[in-house]
Amino acid sequence: VDDAGGTRPSVSTVAGGGLGGGECFELSPSGVLKLQKGDITKWFVDGSTDAIVNAADEQMLGGGGVDGAIHRAAGPELLEACSKVPEVLPGVRCPTGEARITQAFRLPVSHVIHTVGPIYDVDKHPEVSLGNAYRNSLRLAKENNVQYIAFPAISCGVYGYPYKEASRIAVSTAKEFSNDFKEVHFVLFSDDAYKVWLDSARELL
Ligand code: ADP
Repeated sequence: VDDAGGTRPSVSTVAGGGLGGGECFELSPSGVLKLQKGDITKWFVDGSTDAIVNAADEQMLGGGGVDGAIHRAAGPELLEACSKVPEVLPGVRCPTGEARITQAFRLPVSHVIHTVGPIYDVDKHPEVSLGNAYRNSLRLAKENNVQYIAFPAISCGVYGYPYKEASRIAVSTAKEFSNDFKEVHFVLFSDDAYKVWLDSARELL
């Protein structure tokens, strides 16, 4: 049991210990990008400062998809922590493209970074907003000494971003931070997303 009251599985010293398999790519002599299939709420790296990224909405008060899964796994303390993040506009705690950090409570990681991706058909420049969501998450992680970080496919669920375009932005933005993390992971929920991410990583790395 960790100090946040959760249960930290002690199964592995391999990064992404909560999930099996996956494929690695070199980002730099010291940095690795890893793709895995599965549930991001199970992801952690034993004995490290690690973070998962949540595809939240601007209110940061929970929702469906990966946001719902993260809140369920983290417990009600996460909602309480999110509600304490100051509003920058009425009802807006994290504008699209920005990021905020909280503790992770019952999740097996150190932190949750909440970011808001664009709604593909609504945002005027979704590629800019999606790049900013990844970039600001990575910046905030770096500021908090996170060494291992895992992303879901931000905006690729109800926000409707096509996998191909999204995966290229995700991989190329991770590449901008090639010296800043030991490992950057993408945890893809479907076979389809995993395959597309794999193609983009092979193409861009
Ligand atoms: P958005 O509103 O940003 O589109 P969604 O949560 O609807 O966010 O979907 C983002 C992506 O997260 C989708 O590809 C979805 O399949 C995936 N997803 C849903 N649940 C999980 C989970 N537990 N772990 C990892 N990815 C997940």
